[in-house]
This record gives sequence, structure tokens and C-alpha cells, in this order.
Amino acid sequence: MIRETQFYFLMSKAIKKSILKLFLYLRENNSSCYKKLEKWEFLSQSNLKLLQMERLKKLILHSYHHVPYYRELLRSSGVIDNSGFVKLDKFENIPLLDKKSIHYNFENLKSDDLNSRKWYENASGGSTGQPIRLIQDDEYANWRSAVKILYDRWTGCKFNDRKLLLWGSERDLFFGNENWRIRFGRWLRNEVWFNAFRMTRSNMDNCVNTINSFKPVQILSYVEIIYELSRFIKRNRLEIFSPNAIMSTAGTLYPQFRKTIEEALNAPVFNRYGSREVGDIACECDRHKGLHVSAPIHYVEILKKNGEPAKPGEVGEIVITLLTNFAMPLIRYRIGDMGVWSDETCSCGCNWPLLKRVTGRVTDVFFTINGEMIDGEYFTHLLYFKNWIQKFQVVQEDYDSIRFIIIPYEIDSTPDRTHQNELDEIISKVRLVMGKSCQVKFKFVDDIEKTSSGKYKYVISKVAKAWN
Ligand SMILES: [Zn+2]
Repeated sequence: MIRETQFYFLMSKAIKKSILKLFLYLRENNSSCYKKLEKWEFLSQSNLKLLQMERLKKLILHSYHHVPYYRELLRSSGVIDNSGFVKLDKFENIPLLDKKSIHYNFENLKSDDLNSRKWYENASGGSTGQPIRLIQDDEYANWRSAVKILYDRWTGCKFNDRKLLLWGSERDLFFGNENWRIRFGRWLRNEVWFNAFRMTRSNMDNCVNTINSFKPVQILSYVEIIYELSRFIKRNRLEIFSPNAIMSTAGTLYPQFRKTIEEALNAPVFNRYGSREVGDIACECDRHKGLHVSAPIHYVEILKKNGEPAKPGEVGEIVITLLTNFAMPLIRYRIGDMGVWSDETCSCGCNWPLLKRVTGRVTDVFFTINGEMIDGEYFTHLLYFKNWIQKFQVVQEDYDSIRFIIIPYEIDSTPDRTHQNELDEIISKVRLVMGKSCQVKFKFVDDIEKTSSGKYKYVISKVAKAWN
């Protein structure tokens, strides 16, 4: 005989599932995208290539007819011939698009049919410390969530299964309680969120307790945070519930990170690679042979320094063409990460190409004087939506000293005065997490030194280095 609490739990689960299904039914486009992905997952290599080329052609034609930035560019690169046909063999003549070109050509990159689309503005710090603004549309959003659902399924997390997220939310920190829509959405989807920007000792204890009582099927987390939590669990020999899977994202999953996380939580880690600009690009399946690129959504190139495609095993720059956002098409976009193709095929049956690994994304954890850990990404979010910043780097020089190194777009001898209000706001938000006595300095420069791998580190914690 089931107990009363179990009865209510089962009832609540059944009700949630029904409401959620109704929501998805009303958002019909979303579920139809998912159904298509399920079908495309097992296409043969040749049919997958055909499908991808067909979708690429569609994006190019749209860009040629509706996006001023591309009109001349596609003709001069020979991708659109004199009769207006698409010549994909010339695709590699299209100049690469970087964050700087997006900034300077923002208006020209907008599709001229925006009025007929549902669109919204998004911002990203990317993984290289260059904040950008983008326009995205509903079609992109539907495909993005369909890909997420599919990747979740690969980890064994089905529709409506319990999920715990270790995520960053400025909203929690700055505005107190989140609105009812967000809370209702999480309840409906069976999600519990932890603010990963503020993983204090007591937060970690709370998190462990919640994992034990909530018993999530999947934990989705920033790499560094789940790694730190795993170290905390191991160091303190804590009892912990094992979920089916850990999905790690937004950072480099070093082999030692994976090992520590898997040992602490006794569950496999699935690495997912994505960004706010283009959604989730690739994810591991349960064979863990590499990350399958969602080929129907992202056309991915890996290029060597000389612009030639990298062979499997060779490190190169990841360049993405997003096949689903028509409001502001991104063709051959330099996302700022380095990666390596695998030459293996996966025994799972999915022919989506495999990334052996994604390298070069480095996020650091900052430490307060009281020993609290703050995800470095918190500081990058403070520079979002500031259109005058071209690049930045945040350095924790000591427990109570943070320096923002900023390359402004315009040559201005007094950016500290011109943008005083915004800088004051950054200072107060830093002190909110780092303590009132924290020194916050700004340095305006025209270049930031790259790491030996050729990448910008957008956050550097000298304290974390010493601590580790
Ligand atoms: Zn696979």
C-alpha cells in the first residue's frame, strides 16, 4: 500500500507531466523540431551531408536576399554566382566573422524581414572575454531547446525527469526572489537550481543535502563548480546520492576534473559544448568517444592558422555557421575556442561528426578572503551589454584585489570618466560578493596578452593558482 506522501508525490508528478505536455503541444514548433532531430540522429553519413548542405544553402540564400552585410560579400566570394545560384564549393572564400565585425556591422547583419519574425536581443561574453550583442529568433530558440532535450536523453535523462542545476544567476543575487514564472517553470520541469556564482561552504553543504533528498536523475553544472563540489565531497568524505549522469558545460573538462567528479558522485560525466551565441553545439553520448556535433543545426569547421581545414587529431580554431538563426545569420563565426576532430566513428549509431576535444576555454574560480569560491564567470557577466568594451580580462590579484583590464572600442583618453556610472556599478557588484573592502581597479589598454595556446584568458585568479 502506498503512503499518503507517496500518493501526493506521484499525483504531483503526473499533473506536472500533463501540464508540461500541454505547454509543449501549444509550442508545437518546439516538439516538431525535436521529432526531426530524432529522425536525423541516425541518418547515414551521406544523407546527413545532403541534409546539412541543403540547410546551409537555405541560410545562404536567405542571407543574400535579406541581410545587407552578406549581399555583396556572398557575390564577391563567388558563393552566389551571376545567375543567383549557390556555389557551396566556394564557401571557404567567405571571410570569417568575428566579434569585432559583429559589433561594427550590427545593423547590417540584421535580416530585413525582422518585422515578420519573433526576435529578441541576446548578449554573450563568449568564452574569450569579448562581449557581443546578437539578435536571435524564435526558430533558433525552438531548435536550441530541441537539441537540449536530445542531449539530455543521451545522458539517460528523459522528459520531465528530476534535474539539479548548478548554474549562475545574477538575478538571484541582485534582485532577490525570482518571479513566479521562472519558479513555476522550474517546478514544472522538475528542476532545482543552485546559484553557482556563490558556492560558499554552507551552500555546498546545502547542495549536498539537496542532492541527497531530491535525488536528481541528472546534475547539470559549470565544469569548475561541479569539480569544486566533488573535491569538497571527497575531502569531507560525505555520503552522496549518485545521479544517472553529470552534464558538464561552460569550461574545459580536464581529464583530472572528470576523474574527480566521477569518483565523488559515482556517475558518468557527459561533456557538452555550447555558447549563448549559437546554443549547444556538441555533446557526448553514452559511449564517451568524443562530442557529437549537431550537424543539422551547426556547420562546424576547424581551421589551422593558415586557414586550411585541420585534419583529425590536429588542433585548430572552431568556426561555426549556425543554420537556424535567420534574424541575424552567423556564417563562419569565430567562436573563440580551439578544438580537435576525431577520426573515430561511434558505436551508438549516430553519425553526427565527433569532436575529440574542445580545448582552450579557461574559467577560473575566485576566492574571497573568507574562503568563499566565486565562479570567474560572475565577473564576466558584469561586462555584458556594455557596448563600448571590445575585450576584457578580469584578474584576481589577491584575496581583496580585483583588476579589470579593458580594451575599449573607441580611442578615448578618459574612459574611466566617460563611463563612470557603469564602472561604479561594477565596483559595487564586485564588492557584493568579494566583500566591502575589496579593491577594484580598472586598466584601459589597447592589447591583452594571449596565453601560450594563443587564447585570451578572460579570467585569471592568481589566488586560485596559489591555492591549487
Ligand atoms: Zn555516439
